[in-house]
Amino acid sequence: MSSVHAVADDIVRVDALVDDLLAAHDPRTTDQATFRGAQYDRGLAWVHFPEGFGGLGLPPRVQQHVERRLRTAGAPAPHGTLFFGLSLAGPTVVTHGRDELRTRALRPMFTGEEIWCQLFSEPGAGSDLAGLATRAVRDGEEWVVNGQKVWNTLAHIADRGMLVARTDPELPKHKGLTYFMVDMHAPGVEVRPLRQITGEAEFNEVYLTDARIRDADRIGDIGDGWRVSMTTLMNERTTIGGAGGGGGGRSGRRVGAIAEALDIWSRRTERSAVDRDRLARLWIDNEVLRYTNMRAAANARAGNPGPEGSIAKLALANTNKATYELCIDLLGADGIVGYDYTFTRPDEAGLDAPLGSSRKMFLRARANSIEGGTSEIMRNILGERVLGLPREPGIDPNTPWSQIPRS
Ligand SMILES: Cc1cc2nc3c(=O)[nH]c(=O)nc-3n(C[C@H](O)[C@H](O)[C@H](O)COP(=O)(O)OP(=O)(O)OC[C@H]3O[C@@H](n4cnc5c(N)ncnc54)[C@H](O)[C@@H]3O)c2cc1C
Repeated sequence: MSSVHAVADDIVRVDALVDDLLAAHDPRTTDQATFRGAQYDRGLAWVHFPEGFGGLGLPPRVQQHVERRLRTAGAPAPHGTLFFGLSLAGPTVVTHGRDELRTRALRPMFTGEEIWCQLFSEPGAGSDLAGLATRAVRDGEEWVVNGQKVWNTLAHIADRGMLVARTDPELPKHKGLTYFMVDMHAPGVEVRPLRQITGEAEFNEVYLTDARIRDADRIGDIGDGWRVSMTTLMNERTTIGGAGGGGGGRSGRRVGAIAEALDIWSRRTERSAVDRDRLARLWIDNEVLRYTNMRAAANARAGNPGPEGSIAKLALANTNKATYELCIDLLGADGIVGYDYTFTRPDEAGLDAPLGSSRKMFLRARANSIEGGTSEIMRNILGERVLGLPREPGIDPNTPWSQIPRS
């Protein structure tokens, strides 16, 4: 069967399921948890996941069709609170989790009844994630965890955390790691706010002191934490890169930073040729990013993206920063007044903002080249894993973690 016919058959199949969902639950009047639960039960949550786990085993691009139909019928887009669950934890649990854990974790993650956060970075391990020091020691059917995590977005509202910890310090650093689902309400898990340049505290420090995790909440094999983390990180990069429009949550020409720039431009009475030129170039950059994301989404045959996902992440960071810089320049003196730095605790990661938020987003966009892996690391990944350039010289990868010098 040709792929065109296969996709047409897939669309017919999901259309019937969407019709059934909408007939049973009006998205305008049904509460979100109930509606999304019914969506999950029909395999329309992540269509590329296996049947019985929120999916139908279909190509990922079919999901875009489902989302379009649901939005048209009045179902709201998922709230930003669900970002870590939908985009990072879901693919990780379905790829590496045992069926019992998949059954427990995926549905409430999709409905929003359980909010997730990511506990990867540490004060001494960001870009060098494999160097992390948080220890998990086995105690019967449980693990006892001690350590400190940092920059953990939404940890203050999260019910579950994706945790990577060192389970064997005598193995080389990439090999002694294990991945867990941690209960953020468990004794020994303490969350403290970290204030950002925007004035808000989207992220946190998380202290783990004799926190206990059941072995049943391990995701992947003991010692396989690096491989499991890569699933999370590849999905994170692709999703953040896709936030530029097209491949990710949003689509269309006039979204995000470039929509903001066009809006400010349209209201200006004085328009210089230099600014017009900057705006036109940035429009083109944003379009190139959008088409790149659309092409990547259309080509995706399996669920998890590869290292080429770093292209969009790198491009988004540069394009977003440059576009919000233009916004502030166009606003002139207005760009530096009237911003409220009051300390707040957002309930979503600030990757998106409504029109009129350029003062905040100019500041927030600074983080685009850091969060989800820095732009320098994206260049390293693209150089080594996409272009096939030689690896950077480093410590012998066979040195046990316990013998690597640390400050
Ligand atoms: C807004 C925001 C939200 C975040 N949310 C989360 C979260 O929810 N969960 C989580 O676990 N983490 C989160 N992070 C942390 C983020 O993943 C790390 O900040 C990032 O990986 C960089 O690590 P680091 O800050 O330790 O910097 P470092 O790794 O210390 O890097 C410092 C500088 O050195 C450069 N550098 C480091 N190594 C190399 C190299 N090999 N080659 C070239 N240059 C190099 C880096 O590019 C950077 O410029 C978040 C960060 C931000 C800004």
